[in-house]
Amino acid sequence: MGFQHNTLLELLGGVREFETDVYPENEKLFKSLAYTQQPPTLFITCADSRISPGMLTQTEPGELFLIRNVGNIVPAYGNMVGSVTSAIEYAVGALKVKNIIICGHSNCGAMNALLELNSPKLDAMPTVRRWLCNAEAALASLPDLKAEDAGPEEIKSLAEANVRLQLAHLRTHPVVARALARQELEIEGWYYDIKNGVVKVLDEHSPRSYTVEEAIAYLKDQKKAQGDTPASGS
Ligand SMILES: [Zn+2]
Repeated sequence: MGFQHNTLLELLGGVREFETDVYPENEKLFKSLAYTQQPPTLFITCADSRISPGMLTQTEPGELFLIRNVGNIVPAYGNMVGSVTSAIEYAVGALKVKNIIICGHSNCGAMNALLELNSPKLDAMPTVRRWLCNAEAALASLPDLKAEDAGPEEIKSLAEANVRLQLAHLRTHPVVARALARQELEIEGWYYDIKNGVVKVLDEHSPRSYTVEEAIAYLKDQKKAQGDTPASGS
């Protein structure tokens, strides 16, 4: 384990290091971001502390508009007016992001809790229970799974099913549906394996998944094919 900022004092020490070392090294970048942001991507992931979206995608400040919550959940449109809905509207409607990623992950506590939605264990967390109802349909892909039998593989399958469910929910947001219809937006689901440092790109409509290499090759082919197609004149 690396050094942990366990106390407030240590956390402030980290900020001091940012101010004295990191900021000066990146001053140009931060100055360029002072009054504007144009992030190309909305990145939706779990609140889990082990996920560092910037590190994972090797992006810099200003590149990812972030939504984080317990279980990387996107309530279907109309179910709830809240931070997720408004952030999606703002990201797509105002910032005109080009990509939306929903990223689930290994060993997700929310997926474990989902398997025990009706257990007394969640009695002390009534809002977590209600929130996780937005992911309940993901359980349909593993109908006989019990919490006590769920190992890393089962939790992984559930996390992947949850990402697919949340992609479907995302499509119910009118601002997203409009941008997709105009082909101004691409959406994709990922699964991040913390232990092995590997991301899988999920097929939205089947249990298949692809390595990042495969996904890159596919996108390159697709772009090439589009480039080869004569303009339709519309
Ligand atoms: Zn999680």
